[in-house]
Parts: sequence; C-alpha cells; structure tokens
Amino acid sequence: MYRSHTCGALRIGDVGREVQLSGWVQASRDFGGMTFIDLRDRYGITQLVFNMEDDAGLCERARKLGREFVIRANGLVRERSNKNPNRETGDVEIEVRSFEVLNASKVPPFTIEDESDGGDDLRMKFRYLDMRRNPVKEKLVFRSNLALETRKYLTGQSFVEVETPFLIKSTPEGARDFVVPSRMNPGQFYALPQSPQTFKQILMVAGLDRYFQIVKCFRDEDLRADRQPEFTQIDCEMAFVTRADVLSTFEGLTKHLFRATKGIELPDFPVMTYDEAMQRFGSDKPDTRFGMEFVELNDLAKGKGFRVFDEAEMVVGICAQGQAEAYSNKQINELTDWVKRPQIGAKGLVYVKFNTDGSVKSSVGKFYSDDDLKEWGSKAGAEAGDMLLILSGEAEKTRKQLNELRLEMGRRMGLMKEGDFKPLWVIDFPLLEWDEEAGRFHAMHHPFTSPKKEDQERMLTGDHETMKSLRADAYDLVINGVEIGGGSIRIHDRKLQERNFKLLGFTDEEAEAQFGFLMGAFEYGAPPHGGIAFGFDRLCAVMDGETSIRDYIAFPKNNMGRDVMIDAPSPVSGEQLEELHLESTYQGEAEG
Ligand code: ASP
Repeated sequence: MYRSHTCGALRIGDVGREVQLSGWVQASRDFGGMTFIDLRDRYGITQLVFNMEDDAGLCERARKLGREFVIRANGLVRERSNKNPNRETGDVEIEVRSFEVLNASKVPPFTIEDESDGGDDLRMKFRYLDMRRNPVKEKLVFRSNLALETRKYLTGQSFVEVETPFLIKSTPEGARDFVVPSRMNPGQFYALPQSPQTFKQILMVAGLDRYFQIVKCFRDEDLRADRQPEFTQIDCEMAFVTRADVLSTFEGLTKHLFRATKGIELPDFPVMTYDEAMQRFGSDKPDTRFGMEFVELNDLAKGKGFRVFDEAEMVVGICAQGQAEAYSNKQINELTDWVKRPQIGAKGLVYVKFNTDGSVKSSVGKFYSDDDLKEWGSKAGAEAGDMLLILSGEAEKTRKQLNELRLEMGRRMGLMKEGDFKPLWVIDFPLLEWDEEAGRFHAMHHPFTSPKKEDQERMLTGDHETMKSLRADAYDLVINGVEIGGGSIRIHDRKLQERNFKLLGFTDEEAEAQFGFLMGAFEYGAPPHGGIAFGFDRLCAVMDGETSIRDYIAFPKNNMGRDVMIDAPSPVSGEQLEELHLESTYQGEAEG
C-alpha cells in the first residue's frame, strides 16, 4: 500500500491515527533537534516531523531528502502546536515512524510554487514540473469540470455526442489547413478539420437531430496569446430550429456552466445587431462591463473651420468619466502617442476637458467656442470632471481605432472588473465581405451560413451591390469582449449553396469536387438546421478570469507552433518520406 490518505485529507479529527502518505517533498526545514518536511500531492500538503530525540538515524536520513524526491512515509497524526490556518491540513502533522524513498529527483530548474521563477519556455519544456504547481493544476481541473458539466447539460437536452473524423478534406473556416500525406494514395493528402462543420450538417441530414462533440480543431494560423494551432470546441448542431432556438439552448448551457462551476447566476443575455455593436462600440465583440459608448459628433463638429474634422467621414468620441483632471498635458501627449502607434494607426487625438470649476479646455479650442464644446459634452452626457476623447477619419477605421482607445481607457480606469461577467449575443452579421484584391467575396462566417430568410431571394437574383447588403442568419456569443463562440442557421438547399460557392469564387467544378458530398446530401431531404461552436479553451480562460488560454491546455504549443517538451515538429527519416511519396520534395529542399 502506498497511502492510506492523500496529502490533503487529514484533519484534527484524525489525531491519533496511524497513516501512510506518499508524495513529493515540497520543502524541508531543519531546526537541529527537529526536521519538518512538507509532503505534497495533487490534493494538498501535509507536514511531516522527524524528532532527533525519538530516532536520530531517521532524522538524519530525512535531512538528506531533496526537493521533489518522492517518498512514502508512515506515522502518527498529531495536533500541531503551531497551526497553519492557510492550509486545510494545517491543524495536524505526522510524527514519522518510517519512510522510504520511492524515487530521487534532480534539483528542478524552477521552483514548484504558485509564483514560479521559470520563464515560459522553461515551464513548457518541463511541463510535468509546471503542472505540479497549483495554478496550472487547478486550471486543468477547472477545465475537466467544465467539460463534465457541458456533457451533463447537453445530454440532458437530448444531444448525442458523435465523433467525427480527423483525416478529412478541407473544411474552410478561414484559416490554412494542416495536411497529412496519404501513404496508400500517392500524391494525395488529408486535411485536418478546421471544424467538424460539414460532418455535423450531414448528421442533421441523417436525422440525429441534436449533435454535440467536445472536439479538437486544427488551424494553421499565426499564433497569439489566445490562439493555438490545435484547440478545442464545444461543437453543436440542431435540426428544425430557428435562431431563437439555438440561442436559448446555448444561453442555457452558458448559464448552467456559470452556475455549476462558479455559483454565478447570469441574467438573460442581451441581443445586439452587428450594426448596433459597431455603432455603439466600434467592435463586433464589445466588452459591455462598462459603458463609454461612442458619441458621433459629425453634425456638431463639422463646418467650424477645423479642417481635420471637416474632411473626415466620421468624427466620433467617448466620454471618460472623471478623467478631466486626472490627465495632465504630458499624459494627454502620451495617450496621443498611444493611439498613433502603428497597431492602432490614428492620426491624432482631440480632447475636451470639462473641468470641475466649470471651465472647458480642448486641444481644438481655437476652432470652437466653449458653447460649441459644451454642446458636444451634452450630447456625450459629459458632466463636470469628465473628458471627451475624439478621433476622426474614415468611418470604419476610426471606429476600430476608437474601440482600441475605449478598451485602453477601460483598463486604465479599472472598469474591467474581475468576477464581473457580461455576456451578449451579437446577431445579423453581413453575409459576405468584398475582397477588392482577390476580386471575390469572402464568407464572413463560413460558406455554409444561410442568409436571413428575407434576404434569400435577393441573394439568388440580386446584382453585385445587392450581395454586399445581405445579412447572415449568424450569431456570436461574446463575454467581456471575448468572442466565446459563433454559429448560424445553415443553407439546406442545393441551389442556394451553389449560388454561395459561386459568389465565393468557386467554379462549379471546384464546388462539386470539394463539397459535392454535402450538396448531394441536401438533395435527400435535408432538414432546416443550425448550430454553434464555443471555443472551449477560451471559455475556460474567460470564466476563470484569465486572458491566456495556454494554461488551460495541458501541453500547449509556443508562438512558433512548437511543442518544446517533445520537440515537435521535427524532421522525419528519408525512409518515412519515401513511403509517403514525399522523397523528391525533401531532396529538392535539402539540395536547394
Ligand atoms: N464551424 C463554426 C466554427 O468553427 C461554428 C458553427 O458555425 O457552428 O466557427
């Protein structure tokens, strides 16, 4: 027997018991006559004591134990004289009678503590040591709970979990595919799924009615803190549904997850159209934990001789409450530099301060009277002490820039409160985006998304300009400015799907070669259907109040898409390449 209890189990009621514990040496403290060892496992830490007077030999051996040695110890539970209220086992300790080293350990390259001194690369290379630390371990446990609750909820709603294949052909979600050479089919490749999109639609044609899967998806994209080349989705599809059915089901799931894992009751989620989100926040994933909504000033700011505004398509600002006196000229300059950084790209920043003494101060004071500026203030709902920050230029760009500024001000002003969760649905996205360079449309969501019912006829018969105004029956779930998931009602009619592929630049032959199976299925009684997918790693991070998804993934990749623990990707042998019929490419590379 290795253990009678875990290192997190013993309490004052266990005093007097003989127990056996196994775990890792977290730390040891030597006080001459006495040696203390903190023994750790997944469940907690228990203090072991060795007394020189009781057994000098045992005590000497204990002193030699290094950090992360694995031991099994036998002894008696006793009450601690010096209790540790921060530890669940802090009332007791084990008077050790005997112990045994199960395995020695080298000195770990970083400390196994909540705040580790290991940099990212070191932590990833020694991920097994990193995962011994509480913050990482707890995130994985949280993830496991979230997955369990997801399964409970969805199966309770008659969803069936179905596995779809990984070796498929391209399912476009707007990224590059990872491809896998086929040994048995020379010169041919599988693609790893960017999502199970086409399969889940086929499952609806098959009559499964409600499908879900917690599933890996693969997208070969440049990486950011919240992106991984392989990531997990809660992927779902439902037959005979409208948007309202999908939203209420997945609002229900989201509420359930918050209730079950965090004890939080979320109120009903607001619904906002894409146009409204862009107008009020300059973003299709607004962080609604705070207001600071956009105020359009075109009609008030133009025609007073300030050229920059006169020539701008859009003059738009935000009102930063209580900031008028918090920002010195120097800080305004610094904020102006911030919006002018290439990542934001604004040309400049105009401020209007409504001071608490009633005076008004602005960088464009020359062009506007105090009364003019006060009119802006009243449109923005500004009060004494508030500051307007205004950007101008081409409408779409300016909105994007002001969105960044709004978020930055929200951060600086402490308005993104931890533990505050503000979900919302964004609906009615544009169906197609025109790509000037490529001379074709892109699907804003993906090629299987249906236009809204009232736009279907226009899609089939309309001209080029009409296509730009089509609305998709698509929706995103946003929480605290993060896109948690998205989905749509799908096209289930061959004619409409063919039309969509054409607009997206596919020839009939290409569409048939790539998606003939799906359009073929539509001809055998495809029910109306729709679905959604949540980014599971992101959901974990957002619900847990974190921004990075990395620690919710046991073995994540770094920014170069590498797993530094196993050192992948890596070259393969010439023999293997030959088997895969890739030999010539390889040699070409090697010689070239
Ligand atoms: N397949 C979509 C995605 O991965 C989700 C959906 O439309 O259900 O974003």
